[in-house]
Amino acid sequence: AARKLPDYPWLASYPPTVDWAMPIPARPLTELLEGAVDRHGDKPCLNFLGKRTSYRELGRLVDRAARGFQAIGVGKGTRVGLFLPNTPYYVIAFFAILKAGGTVVNFNPLYAERELVHQIGDSDIDLMVTLDLKLLYGKMARMLEETGLKRLVICRMADILPFPKNWLFPIAKKAEIAAIPRDDCHIPFARLIANDGRPTPVALDAQEDVAVLQYTGGTTGVPKGAMLTHANLYANTIQCATWYAAKERKPGEGGTEDAQERMLGVLPLFHVFAMTAVMNFGLHLGAEIVLLPRFELEQVMRTLQKERITLFPAVPTIYTAINHHKHLEKFDLSSIRFCMSGGAPLPLEVKEAFERTTGCTLVEGYGLSECSPVATVNPAVLHSDKKGSIGLPLPGTVVEIVSLEEPRRVLPPGEKGEVCIRGPQVMKGYWRRPAETAQTLVDGRLHTGDVGVMDEDGYTTIVDRIKDMILCSGFNVYPRNVEEAIYLHPAVAECVVAGLPDEYRGQTVKAYVRLDDGKSLTAEELIAFLKDKLSPIEMPKVVEFRQELPKTMIGKLSRKALLDEEQGKRSAA
Ligand code: AMP
Repeated sequence: AARKLPDYPWLASYPPTVDWAMPIPARPLTELLEGAVDRHGDKPCLNFLGKRTSYRELGRLVDRAARGFQAIGVGKGTRVGLFLPNTPYYVIAFFAILKAGGTVVNFNPLYAERELVHQIGDSDIDLMVTLDLKLLYGKMARMLEETGLKRLVICRMADILPFPKNWLFPIAKKAEIAAIPRDDCHIPFARLIANDGRPTPVALDAQEDVAVLQYTGGTTGVPKGAMLTHANLYANTIQCATWYAAKERKPGEGGTEDAQERMLGVLPLFHVFAMTAVMNFGLHLGAEIVLLPRFELEQVMRTLQKERITLFPAVPTIYTAINHHKHLEKFDLSSIRFCMSGGAPLPLEVKEAFERTTGCTLVEGYGLSECSPVATVNPAVLHSDKKGSIGLPLPGTVVEIVSLEEPRRVLPPGEKGEVCIRGPQVMKGYWRRPAETAQTLVDGRLHTGDVGVMDEDGYTTIVDRIKDMILCSGFNVYPRNVEEAIYLHPAVAECVVAGLPDEYRGQTVKAYVRLDDGKSLTAEELIAFLKDKLSPIEMPKVVEFRQELPKTMIGKLSRKALLDEEQGKRSAA
């Protein structure tokens, strides 16, 4: 029967191979893993520094860990922290907590103590899973003293390393771990999984039960937990898979006889983008997921080549780093077929250079933690491509641009406003923050805090984040516009534009620039280059060249770190 759909602008230009109105079932995320285990059984699933775990083995380990978590009191609604870099432990613990009925609270292993104290208190957890690396274990041992944290599940690095020596990071000594002040607070992972692997089945309500508390600054700054339900995360994986289907691999493509994809997991899994685009999507496809515990360019290059990686989700700064590698031509990256960039704007030059080098298709997605995270993807791989746009809404997703002044008024195509999203991937709300939830979810619309504009065909272009907008002599300057102009200069490798306080203009435009190795450029030359590309209001008043630009943990260039630095300088003056 013909379905009657609202008159959304993108429906006429939607990729013919994807049904925007397809049914998206609300299922527990644990079914995603169980389905993958059933379908892919003995195929390799995780590959950690050469040590492989099959789908079947992963399924068994998850069941045993789930049973173990239940035995120590984890049940429906129990929140458990994960303080783990990318290792098989992350994947096992993640799904085991869900299977036991609990909620995963993701922690960034590089958090400072202050941030840990805040997030442990806010999420109100007493159990955390961590690794016996000094860097991690040391911080958590202090958290046992300073916060409500009572117990640690400790995973041993030596148990999963393919070679027995200390690797990359020093490992905490037995004596150090035993020195924990209370005796009942240390649960070795090996003990957790020493059982028959039969967890008590828990009835999950996919729409209501929160699978993950994902901490994010959101639009108001204070880190708060976005409550992502089972249905949210399940839906987003299925939604992303619709885009990929057109690129599905045939045997022989990317250099091996079978059709199994090999995905590089270098983005940290505790970040929402990798949680969905690497872990959940990779498992759903039956890929072999090659995990790297941190981003180190040489290791990434070697791994891409050696493991014949076919799928490579990453953030723009990683593609940039590869494009600028000194000996790029020495590496064979021809196995890479499909890449999804997300988390930050992907400069067009970066996309095109990476596609030229590898012969892959690199599509840009847009999303945010509150949206599990993907909301739109550029359908280049399927049909038309609009350069610089973040593309069309995923199936079941509605994008609307609303007035910045009247947040309930939806604007027609061509007008700038706040990007709002509806869809099965939109969070349930912020954990224990009704006021912020009410501000962000208005009439069922997620207010993203991003300024954007949609064209007649339903393609959205992000102009900037509302909070990054620079107000200069009464005019709005969008840093992203200025950055794009600067990126056009061939000597520029990376740049960030930010607004600094200014007595006369309100704010003034400053550009931070990192040049390509061996290139030189002066501020005057850059300004001269920008003359016909920017208006006088947008023109940077200050240009600072740096050897390195600060990045967030997932690798986004960090405007906030630069602004904090400037603030620090002003307070010191
Ligand atoms: P977070 O939830 O903190 O990881 O960050 C989400 C934010 O990243 C969004 O609100 C956007 O401002 C930004 N973002 C993500 N993807 C893109 C993209 N493709 N283009 C522009 N901005 C993006």
